[in-house]
Amino acid sequence: MDFELENKVVIIGSGAAGLTAAIYAARANLEPLVFEGFQAGGQLTMTTDVENYPGFPNGVMGPNLMDLLREQAQRFGANCIAAQVEKVDFDLYPYCLMVNEKQIYADSIIIATGATAKLLDVPGESNLIGRGVSTCATCDGFFYKDKKIHVIGGGDSAMEEANFLTKFAKQVTIVHRRDRLRASKIMQDRAKSNPKINFLWNAELHEIIGTQKDGTNSFFYKDVKTNKITKVETEGIFIAIGHNPNTELFLNKIDMDDSGYILTEGKSSKTNLKGIFAAGDVQDDVYRQAITAAGSGCMAAIDAERFLEEEK
Ligand code: NAP
Repeated sequence: MDFELENKVVIIGSGAAGLTAAIYAARANLEPLVFEGFQAGGQLTMTTDVENYPGFPNGVMGPNLMDLLREQAQRFGANCIAAQVEKVDFDLYPYCLMVNEKQIYADSIIIATGATAKLLDVPGESNLIGRGVSTCATCDGFFYKDKKIHVIGGGDSAMEEANFLTKFAKQVTIVHRRDRLRASKIMQDRAKSNPKINFLWNAELHEIIGTQKDGTNSFFYKDVKTNKITKVETEGIFIAIGHNPNTELFLNKIDMDDSGYILTEGKSSKTNLKGIFAAGDVQDDVYRQAITAAGSGCMAAIDAERFLEEEK
């Protein structure tokens, strides 16, 4: 693990946003240092086929796409390090980061630590992600043509995912742990009036059943009113109970909204701290797509380049 202690640009995170920022920063001769984090490649490494990333008419496997982005960044001189940033000090300038107990200094930083879909934490779930269990309808909906599937959650995300999935699926059942939805009225009405959507109320998912080879085939849920456990057959489960931005590292150090997403200024990637930029899902709870993350990574690199130019 070889890297400089003083850097023009440090990128934290290696999903579509971080690696695109790395490509642009490297091509601007800024020799970016990328800390890849605990899940190098980000959320796309958890999906299988990506069919909506422009330029791949036959689709591309999520992990392969991230390998290609990394290779492209490295070709121009980005230094990608498989390590986690443990601490940041934004009171000092150049900014200071702790990695493997080393202090690293950065004239500018691009935060691209992404977000993590909340999971249910029930047996079977982690084993079947990408094998009939998904956290992204836009990414995986296409694979559920004419299938009977289930969406877990009662918020706007669950309504939106369920509605979207009816374009493909034969039937979508929204499984919610209460008897009232949290979603906004308009989203509720849309879901309730969709003839392909029905509801399973007061149902707390208990266990997901399937195999890596054959995928997901059923789940057990508990009726929270009667405590009765019931088995339901399914051809796919979409978990839509929200996302958490990966911002614990920056808590009380940079401006965030109430949900912990980093705030950026207008159409830029600028945060409230000079020379610190945010890109991708860590600052976006609306679009959350690989291509929008990549686009904002490009913006952050350009913003960092301009900032460094002005600082000179
Ligand atoms: P959310 O509003 O927090 O809703 C999460 C839902 O998941 C709730 O119904 C919650 O149940 C359920 N849930 C949470 N943890 C659970 C668990 N462990 N087991 C089972 N169910 C669980 O999250 P969201 O739907 O992702 O929305 C987040 C924000 O983005 C909201 O402000 C929303 O309005 C916005 N958003 C907007 C749109 C849109 O307008 N197009 C689309 C998506 C999201 P309870 O209700 O029982 O707590």
